[in-house]
Amino acid sequence: MNTPDKTKQRKLLAVFAHPDDETFICGGTLAKYGSAGVEMTLVSATRGEMGRRMGNPPYLNRETMPAAREQELRQACEILGISRLQFFDIRDKTVEFHDAAELEARIGAIIDELQPDVVLTFHETLGGHPDHCAIGKATKAAYMRSGLEGGLYYISFGSTMAKPERSGYTRQDIVKIDVSKHKRTKLDAFRAHRCQTEIDEWVWLPDHEAMSYFGDYEYFIVGDGRAPRRSPVDLF
Ligand SMILES: [Zn+2]
Repeated sequence: MNTPDKTKQRKLLAVFAHPDDETFICGGTLAKYGSAGVEMTLVSATRGEMGRRMGNPPYLNRETMPAAREQELRQACEILGISRLQFFDIRDKTVEFHDAAELEARIGAIIDELQPDVVLTFHETLGGHPDHCAIGKATKAAYMRSGLEGGLYYISFGSTMAKPERSGYTRQDIVKIDVSKHKRTKLDAFRAHRCQTEIDEWVWLPDHEAMSYFGDYEYFIVGDGRAPRRSPVDLF
């Protein structure tokens, strides 16, 4: 296990597809590293303007949705401690049709500039949505060309990776992050994504009840086996 240099600013880059991916999938982990002073940057490929949830009762339309979702994401970033947010402004639900080389180059330029210790993205086949898989594939390609090693991780959904063998992985492939102390922040970020969560009654239950819907752990798949494994319980 590497001993992190405590004097060096730790940096994390998350490259996702839609506003809310960061909160709904790994909000506890981002809250944890944000509170630990990690410098975090988020790329959202789209503004999520094709989302089917338009508020409850609906108050958004396709014209007003991009700005509303941007505003909500900015608020969630503030809550989670993400200091930099960048949109690629690819049309929602079309990331898979975007020029792959161009997408990879844009992500590569950000990686070159930031030199992040950790890069989070989607797995290119286990991403669960074509936009997710496409941005994950491009991010993996950009990372592999970047010269960085050992810091690429794929997010996973809920506790599916608590039993990695069911998905063809072993425990060696998984990093398990204890987020039990960060559920409050995660809940606040969920509520910031108001137009997407208003319809989910559990999100608006009294805090302690709502927080009971979150697991104590978030799981990540090691995406780059070229470097020595860092830690089974820490991304850095
Ligand atoms: Zn998404």
